[in-house]
Amino acid sequence: MELRVEDAIQWFTKVNEKIQENKDYLTSLDQVIGDSDHGINMARGFQEVENKLSTQEYQEVADVLKEVAMTLISKVGGASGPLFGTAFLKFSQAVKGINPVDYTSFTSGIEEALQGVMHRGKATTGEKTMIDVWAPVVHSFQEAHDFEDNPFLKVAKQAMEDTKDIMATKGRAAYFKGKSIGYIDPGAASTYLIFEALEEVIKG
Ligand code: ADP
Ligand code: MG
Ligand code: MG
Repeated sequence: MELRVEDAIQWFTKVNEKIQENKDYLTSLDQVIGDSDHGINMARGFQEVENKLSTQEYQEVADVLKEVAMTLISKVGGASGPLFGTAFLKFSQAVKGINPVDYTSFTSGIEEALQGVMHRGKATTGEKTMIDVWAPVVHSFQEAHDFEDNPFLKVAKQAMEDTKDIMATKGRAAYFKGKSIGYIDPGAASTYLIFEALEEVIKG
C-alpha cells in the first residue's frame, strides 16, 4: 500500500471525527493532570484542518501534511498545537516530492515527526507526554516492512495505557509530580487517535 493525496485527506478527516467524538474524554484526562482544555484545543484545531482539507486542492501528500501543520500551529493555543504542528511539518518536509508516499518514505516521515516533537518540546521518552506514543510507533514502523504487517495500532494502544505508570516531568502535568501517576496522558491519548485513524485508512 502507498499513501496517496486522497488517503492523506481521508486520514485527517477521520482524525477530526475521532477527536470530535472524544473531545470530552480528552478534556477529562487533562482535567486530572492539566488545565482541562486538551479536548477543546484539539477539537478546535482539527475542525479547522477539516474545513481546509474539504475545500482546497492538493498536489501531493506533503502539501496535505503541511496544511495540517500550519493550521494546528496557528489555531491551537495550547502546547499540543505547536507540538503536533511541528510533527506534521517535519513529516511534510521529509516526504516532499514523493507522491504517493511508500512505506519507507512514510517511515522516514514519522521518524522526522518524532524528532521534531522531541526537539520542540525539549523532551524525551519516559516523561509522560505524546512522545511516549510517537516513539514506540516509530519503532514499530522501523521494525516492520509494510503497512499491513505493522502492529503499530496495538503498540500505540499499549504505549498510551503505559503512560499511566509514568510520573510527568514535562508540560503542565509535571506540576502534579507523583500525583500524575495513575492517569493516561492527554496528548498520548490524542496521538493514539491519530494512529487509529491511520489504521482505518490503511485497512480501507
Ligand atoms: P496545554 O498543556 O498547554 O494546556 P494541551 O492540554 O492541549 O496543552 O496539551 C497537553 C499535552 O501536550 C500533554 O498531555 C502532553 O502529551 C503534551 N506535552 C506538553 N508538554 C510537552 C513537551 N514539552 N513535550 C512533548 N509533549 C508535551
Ligand atoms: Mg491543557
Ligand atoms: Mg492549556
